[in-house]
Amino acid sequence: MTTTLITGANKGLGRETARRLVEAGHTVYLGSRDLERGRRAAEETGARHVLIDITDEASVTAAARRIEADGGLDVLVNNAGIEGRTEGNGIVLPADETVDTLRPLFETNVFGTLRVTHAFLPLLRRSAAPVVVNVASGLASLTALADPTSPGHGYPGIAYPASKTAVNALTVQYAKAFPDIRINAVEPGFTKTDLNGNTGVQTVEEGAEIIVRMAQIGPDGPTGGFFDASGPLPW
Ligand code: NAP
Repeated sequence: MTTTLITGANKGLGRETARRLVEAGHTVYLGSRDLERGRRAAEETGARHVLIDITDEASVTAAARRIEADGGLDVLVNNAGIEGRTEGNGIVLPADETVDTLRPLFETNVFGTLRVTHAFLPLLRRSAAPVVVNVASGLASLTALADPTSPGHGYPGIAYPASKTAVNALTVQYAKAFPDIRINAVEPGFTKTDLNGNTGVQTVEEGAEIIVRMAQIGPDGPTGGFFDASGPLPW
């Protein structure tokens, strides 16, 4: 039996990933930072709920202790993330970007991902087939950001791409440090969720495809890579 934790899974891509992995036979811990919304999503998807705010050390430690006491973890999906849009759903432009506008994105997307990975590493290292999926973004790719022919080229903000590029760096470095764990970053594609004010063009079913696939790779699968639904992506 494969046991899987998905952070930020009370809605959006995380929730759909939980639903699909339950369907595939995983024991899924659906992580959320809100008890009620998390419990409801867990009930609806057939997952177990675990309270986890990835910006809170005590919350992450408590979640790791609980899952360890229940029997351990095989698959970690670092999905929780924010884009940090302004109230009018706008992207903070470079002229307005400050350390204060950047900080929350790093607190969640980078420090949160590292905090959760660090807390669950001891459990993953005891698994027979450990897997980590880091939900990055196409905007994490410096190649895409710098390529005028790439759809990501037009994205004007600094904070979100910078934080997701850092997630890709964590992915590569962890993958080299822990060759027995399959650790990859994924780009779900521009998906209609609250993250982007529901402006995305894909459904969550389409977006979750690569997350679900990479959560199910076996010990012979790739590690230290960056993928979307069509294959490997440039860093
Ligand atoms: P979403 O619907 O807004 O879901 C984001 C989830 O992350 C929510 O459950 C949210 O919880 C949770 N979250 C945020 N901060 C958290 C924290 N500190 N602790 C725990 N959970 C936290 O967005 P989504 O589109 O599904 O995003 C999922 C992932 O995909 C993100 O990493 C995002 O960057 C990435 N991604 C999305 C797209 C896209 O087009 N949608 C494209 C590329 C990558 P609350 O409900 O409590 O806020």
